[in-house]
Amino acid sequence: MDRDRRRKFGQNFLDVPTAQMIAGDLPANAGEPVLEIGPGHGALTEHMLARGLDVTAVEIDEQCVEFLQNKFANFPNFHITNCDILKFDLDAWIANHGKPWLTGNLPYNVSTAIIAGIMPRLHLTQGFMGMVQLEVAERICASPCSKAYGSLSVLVSAYANTQILRKIGPEHFTPKPNVDSATMLLTPRADALQAPEGYFDFVRAAFTQKRKTLTNSFGGAYPKQKIQEAIELLDYPATVRAEELSPEQFLEFYNVIAK
Ligand code: SAM
Repeated sequence: MDRDRRRKFGQNFLDVPTAQMIAGDLPANAGEPVLEIGPGHGALTEHMLARGLDVTAVEIDEQCVEFLQNKFANFPNFHITNCDILKFDLDAWIANHGKPWLTGNLPYNVSTAIIAGIMPRLHLTQGFMGMVQLEVAERICASPCSKAYGSLSVLVSAYANTQILRKIGPEHFTPKPNVDSATMLLTPRADALQAPEGYFDFVRAAFTQKRKTLTNSFGGAYPKQKIQEAIELLDYPATVRAEELSPEQFLEFYNVIAK
Protein backbone atom coordinates (compact mmCIF):
# COMPACT_ATOMS: atom_id res chain seq x y z
CA MET A 1 0.00 0.00 0.00
CA ASP A 2 1.74 3.20 -1.10
CA ARG A 3 1.99 6.31 1.01
CA ASP A 4 0.03 8.55 -1.39
CA ARG A 5 -2.90 6.19 -1.30
CA ARG A 6 -2.90 6.15 2.47
CA ARG A 7 -2.84 9.93 2.64
CA LYS A 8 -5.43 10.42 -0.10
CA PHE A 9 -7.92 8.07 1.51
CA GLY A 10 -7.06 8.81 5.16
CA GLN A 11 -6.01 5.23 5.78
CA ASN A 12 -4.93 4.54 9.35
CA PHE A 13 -5.65 0.96 10.27
CA LEU A 14 -6.58 -0.14 13.79
CA ASP A 15 -4.81 -2.84 15.79
CA VAL A 16 -6.80 -5.99 16.54
CA PRO A 17 -7.55 -5.58 20.28
CA THR A 18 -8.67 -1.95 19.85
CA ALA A 19 -10.83 -2.86 16.83
CA GLN A 20 -12.42 -5.69 18.79
CA MET A 21 -13.19 -3.36 21.72
CA ILE A 22 -14.71 -0.71 19.44
CA ALA A 23 -16.75 -3.19 17.41
CA GLY A 24 -18.03 -4.55 20.73
CA ASP A 25 -19.38 -1.10 21.61
CA LEU A 26 -21.86 -1.15 18.74
CA PRO A 27 -25.19 -1.78 20.48
CA ALA A 28 -26.57 -3.95 17.65
CA ASN A 29 -27.96 -7.50 17.88
CA ALA A 30 -27.18 -10.52 15.68
CA GLY A 31 -28.99 -10.36 12.36
CA GLU A 32 -29.40 -6.59 12.43
CA PRO A 33 -28.18 -4.53 9.48
CA VAL A 34 -25.10 -2.32 9.85
CA LEU A 35 -23.55 0.06 7.35
CA GLU A 36 -19.79 0.33 7.81
CA ILE A 37 -18.11 3.36 6.26
CA GLY A 38 -14.48 2.80 5.23
CA PRO A 39 -13.79 -0.82 6.29
CA GLY A 40 -10.15 -0.66 5.10
CA HIS A 41 -8.70 -4.11 5.81
CA GLY A 42 -11.71 -5.16 7.83
CA ALA A 43 -10.41 -4.61 11.36
CA LEU A 44 -13.85 -3.65 12.71
CA THR A 45 -15.74 -5.67 10.11
CA GLU A 46 -14.41 -9.03 11.19
CA HIS A 47 -15.60 -8.59 14.78
CA MET A 48 -19.02 -7.40 13.64
CA LEU A 49 -19.34 -10.38 11.29
CA ALA A 50 -18.31 -12.71 14.13
CA ARG A 51 -21.19 -11.22 16.17
CA GLY A 52 -23.58 -12.21 13.38
CA LEU A 53 -24.34 -8.64 12.29
CA ASP A 54 -25.38 -8.14 8.67
CA VAL A 55 -22.66 -5.79 7.45
CA THR A 56 -22.74 -3.68 4.30
CA ALA A 57 -19.39 -1.96 3.83
CA VAL A 58 -18.81 1.10 1.64
CA GLU A 59 -15.17 1.53 0.68
CA ILE A 60 -13.65 3.96 -1.84
CA ASP A 61 -10.35 2.12 -2.36
CA GLU A 62 -10.71 -0.72 -4.85
CA GLN A 63 -7.60 -2.47 -3.47
CA CYS A 64 -9.26 -2.67 -0.04
CA VAL A 65 -12.49 -3.87 -1.67
CA GLU A 66 -10.69 -6.70 -3.45
CA PHE A 67 -8.84 -7.62 -0.27
CA LEU A 68 -12.09 -7.77 1.73
CA GLN A 69 -13.96 -9.74 -0.94
CA ASN A 70 -11.33 -12.45 -0.50
CA LYS A 71 -11.03 -12.15 3.27
CA PHE A 72 -14.77 -12.46 3.90
CA ALA A 73 -15.70 -14.69 0.94
CA ASN A 74 -17.24 -17.23 3.32
CA PHE A 75 -19.45 -14.78 5.17
CA PRO A 76 -22.97 -14.55 3.71
CA ASN A 77 -23.61 -11.64 6.11
CA PHE A 78 -20.91 -9.52 4.39
CA HIS A 79 -21.71 -7.19 1.48
CA ILE A 80 -19.44 -4.55 -0.01
CA THR A 81 -19.81 -1.62 -2.39
CA ASN A 82 -16.87 0.13 -4.02
CA CYS A 83 -18.04 3.71 -3.71
CA ASP A 84 -17.33 7.12 -2.23
CA ILE A 85 -19.62 7.36 0.79
CA LEU A 86 -20.34 10.99 -0.10
CA LYS A 87 -21.88 9.77 -3.38
CA PHE A 88 -23.54 6.67 -1.92
CA ASP A 89 -27.37 6.63 -1.97
CA LEU A 90 -27.82 6.42 1.79
CA ASP A 91 -31.59 7.01 1.59
CA ALA A 92 -32.14 4.05 -0.73
CA TRP A 93 -29.90 1.79 1.35
CA ILE A 94 -31.64 2.72 4.61
CA ALA A 95 -35.08 2.23 3.01
CA ASN A 96 -34.06 -1.35 2.13
CA HIS A 97 -32.60 -2.18 5.53
CA GLY A 98 -35.19 -1.30 8.15
CA LYS A 99 -33.63 0.57 11.04
CA PRO A 100 -29.90 -0.02 10.59
CA TRP A 101 -26.91 1.01 12.63
CA LEU A 102 -24.22 3.15 11.01
CA THR A 103 -20.58 2.78 11.97
CA GLY A 104 -16.97 3.25 10.86
CA ASN A 105 -13.56 4.49 11.71
CA LEU A 106 -14.07 7.51 9.47
CA PRO A 107 -11.42 8.92 7.11
CA TYR A 108 -10.49 12.16 8.89
CA ASN A 109 -10.38 14.38 5.81
CA VAL A 110 -14.11 13.87 5.15
CA SER A 111 -15.42 12.93 8.59
CA THR A 112 -17.44 16.12 9.19
CA ALA A 113 -18.97 15.93 5.69
CA ILE A 114 -19.98 12.31 6.38
CA ILE A 115 -21.51 13.17 9.76
CA ALA A 116 -23.33 16.19 8.30
CA GLY A 117 -24.78 13.96 5.55
CA ILE A 118 -25.98 11.39 8.08
CA MET A 119 -27.68 13.79 10.49
CA PRO A 120 -30.92 14.59 8.61
CA ARG A 121 -31.41 10.81 8.17
CA LEU A 122 -30.42 9.76 11.68
CA HIS A 123 -34.06 9.26 12.75
CA LEU A 124 -34.37 6.54 10.09
CA THR A 125 -31.54 4.60 11.77
CA GLN A 126 -30.74 3.35 15.26
CA GLY A 127 -27.78 5.69 15.35
CA PHE A 128 -24.11 6.07 14.53
CA MET A 129 -21.25 4.67 16.62
CA GLY A 130 -17.81 5.31 15.26
CA MET A 131 -14.50 7.08 15.31
CA VAL A 132 -13.29 10.52 14.32
CA GLN A 133 -10.39 12.75 15.32
CA LEU A 134 -10.68 13.56 19.07
CA GLU A 135 -10.90 17.30 18.43
CA VAL A 136 -13.82 16.74 16.01
CA ALA A 137 -15.58 14.43 18.49
CA GLU A 138 -15.20 17.13 21.15
CA ARG A 139 -16.72 19.73 18.83
CA ILE A 140 -19.57 17.40 17.86
CA CYS A 141 -20.41 16.52 21.46
CA ALA A 142 -19.88 19.99 23.00
CA SER A 143 -22.59 21.76 25.01
CA PRO A 144 -23.41 25.48 24.80
CA CYS A 145 -20.96 27.77 26.63
CA SER A 146 -18.09 25.28 26.37
CA LYS A 147 -14.87 26.04 24.47
CA ALA A 148 -15.47 23.47 21.71
CA TYR A 149 -19.10 24.51 21.04
CA GLY A 150 -19.66 25.72 17.48
CA SER A 151 -21.79 25.28 14.38
CA LEU A 152 -20.89 21.57 14.11
CA SER A 153 -22.17 21.01 17.68
CA VAL A 154 -25.44 22.74 16.78
CA LEU A 155 -25.82 20.78 13.54
CA VAL A 156 -25.36 17.43 15.26
CA SER A 157 -27.19 18.13 18.52
CA ALA A 158 -30.22 19.36 16.55
CA TYR A 159 -30.68 15.71 15.53
CA ALA A 160 -28.73 13.57 17.98
CA ASN A 161 -28.02 12.73 21.58
CA THR A 162 -24.23 12.72 21.65
CA GLN A 163 -21.67 10.95 23.80
CA ILE A 164 -17.90 10.39 23.57
CA LEU A 165 -17.25 6.73 24.35
CA ARG A 166 -13.47 6.18 24.17
CA LYS A 167 -10.32 8.14 23.49
CA ILE A 168 -7.89 6.22 21.29
CA GLY A 169 -4.21 7.21 21.02
CA PRO A 170 -2.16 7.18 17.78
CA GLU A 171 -0.24 4.08 18.93
CA HIS A 172 -3.28 1.94 18.11
CA PHE A 173 -3.04 2.68 14.36
CA THR A 174 -0.77 1.82 11.44
CA PRO A 175 0.50 4.21 10.27
CA LYS A 176 0.26 6.38 13.40
CA PRO A 177 -1.78 9.55 12.82
CA ASN A 178 -0.54 12.86 14.28
CA VAL A 179 -3.70 13.30 16.33
CA ASP A 180 -5.74 11.55 19.00
CA SER A 181 -9.00 9.90 18.06
CA ALA A 182 -12.26 9.15 19.83
CA THR A 183 -15.31 7.00 19.35
CA MET A 184 -18.71 8.52 19.86
CA LEU A 185 -22.31 7.41 19.98
CA LEU A 186 -24.92 9.53 18.20
CA THR A 187 -28.50 8.36 18.67
CA PRO A 188 -31.61 10.01 17.20
CA ARG A 189 -33.30 12.59 19.40
CA ALA A 190 -36.99 11.85 19.91
CA ASP A 191 -37.54 15.62 19.74
CA ALA A 192 -35.17 16.33 16.82
CA LEU A 193 -35.36 19.87 15.53
CA GLN A 194 -37.40 20.50 12.40
CA ALA A 195 -34.74 22.67 10.83
CA PRO A 196 -36.07 24.88 8.01
CA GLU A 197 -33.96 25.57 4.94
CA GLY A 198 -31.39 28.23 5.66
CA TYR A 199 -31.20 27.44 9.38
CA PHE A 200 -27.76 25.82 9.35
CA ASP A 201 -26.32 28.51 7.07
CA PHE A 202 -27.60 31.01 9.60
CA VAL A 203 -25.96 29.08 12.47
CA ARG A 204 -22.64 28.88 10.59
CA ALA A 205 -22.82 32.62 9.90
CA ALA A 206 -23.46 33.33 13.59
CA PHE A 207 -20.14 31.67 14.47
CA THR A 208 -18.13 33.58 11.84
CA GLN A 209 -16.64 35.83 14.51
CA LYS A 210 -17.19 33.58 17.47
CA ARG A 211 -15.53 35.80 20.10
CA LYS A 212 -17.78 38.77 19.36
CA THR A 213 -21.31 39.36 20.64
CA LEU A 214 -24.07 38.09 18.38
CA THR A 215 -24.78 41.58 17.02
CA ASN A 216 -21.26 41.61 15.54
CA SER A 217 -20.45 37.93 15.05
CA PHE A 218 -22.22 37.45 11.70
CA GLY A 219 -19.51 39.33 9.84
CA GLY A 220 -22.08 41.17 7.70
CA ALA A 221 -23.98 38.07 6.50
CA TYR A 222 -27.21 39.48 7.96
CA PRO A 223 -28.22 43.14 8.54
CA LYS A 224 -26.97 44.21 11.96
CA GLN A 225 -30.16 46.08 12.75
CA LYS A 226 -32.29 43.00 12.14
CA ILE A 227 -30.06 40.99 14.49
CA GLN A 228 -30.35 43.67 17.16
CA GLU A 229 -34.14 43.80 16.85
CA ALA A 230 -34.40 40.02 17.16
CA ILE A 231 -32.20 40.03 20.29
CA GLU A 232 -34.50 42.64 21.86
CA LEU A 233 -37.69 40.87 20.79
CA LEU A 234 -36.49 37.56 22.25
CA ASP A 235 -35.33 39.32 25.41
CA TYR A 236 -31.76 38.00 25.13
CA PRO A 237 -29.03 39.96 26.93
CA ALA A 238 -27.44 42.56 24.61
CA THR A 239 -24.07 40.83 25.14
CA VAL A 240 -25.27 37.37 24.09
CA ARG A 241 -22.76 35.31 22.03
CA ALA A 242 -23.39 32.52 19.52
CA GLU A 243 -21.68 30.01 21.80
CA GLU A 244 -24.41 30.56 24.45
CA LEU A 245 -27.34 29.55 22.23
CA SER A 246 -28.78 26.02 22.09
CA PRO A 247 -30.07 24.63 18.75
CA GLU A 248 -33.62 25.48 19.92
CA GLN A 249 -32.66 29.08 20.70
CA PHE A 250 -30.96 29.39 17.32
CA LEU A 251 -34.20 28.19 15.76
CA GLU A 252 -36.39 30.77 17.51
CA PHE A 253 -33.79 33.40 16.61
CA TYR A 254 -33.73 32.29 12.96
CA ASN A 255 -37.54 32.25 12.80
CA VAL A 256 -37.60 35.93 13.83
CA ILE A 257 -34.87 36.88 11.34
CA ALA A 258 -36.37 34.88 8.47
CA LYS A 259 -39.81 36.49 8.83
N1 SAM B 1 -11.96 0.56 9.27
C1 SAM B 1 -10.53 0.43 9.05
C2 SAM B 1 -9.81 0.38 10.38
O1 SAM B 1 -10.40 0.85 11.37
O2 SAM B 1 -8.71 -0.14 10.43
C3 SAM B 1 -9.98 1.58 8.18
C4 SAM B 1 -10.23 2.99 8.70
S1 SAM B 1 -9.38 4.24 7.80
C5 SAM B 1 -9.26 5.49 9.04
C6 SAM B 1 -10.60 4.96 6.74
C7 SAM B 1 -11.08 4.07 5.59
O3 SAM B 1 -12.04 4.83 4.82
C8 SAM B 1 -10.01 3.66 4.61
O4 SAM B 1 -10.15 2.29 4.31
C9 SAM B 1 -10.27 4.50 3.35
O5 SAM B 1 -9.86 3.89 2.15
C10 SAM B 1 -11.78 4.68 3.43
N2 SAM B 1 -12.30 5.89 2.77
C11 SAM B 1 -11.69 7.10 2.64
N3 SAM B 1 -12.49 7.99 2.04
C12 SAM B 1 -13.65 7.33 1.78
C13 SAM B 1 -14.87 7.70 1.15
N4 SAM B 1 -15.05 8.95 0.70
N5 SAM B 1 -15.85 6.77 1.03
C14 SAM B 1 -15.65 5.51 1.50
N6 SAM B 1 -14.52 5.10 2.10
C15 SAM B 1 -13.53 5.99 2.26
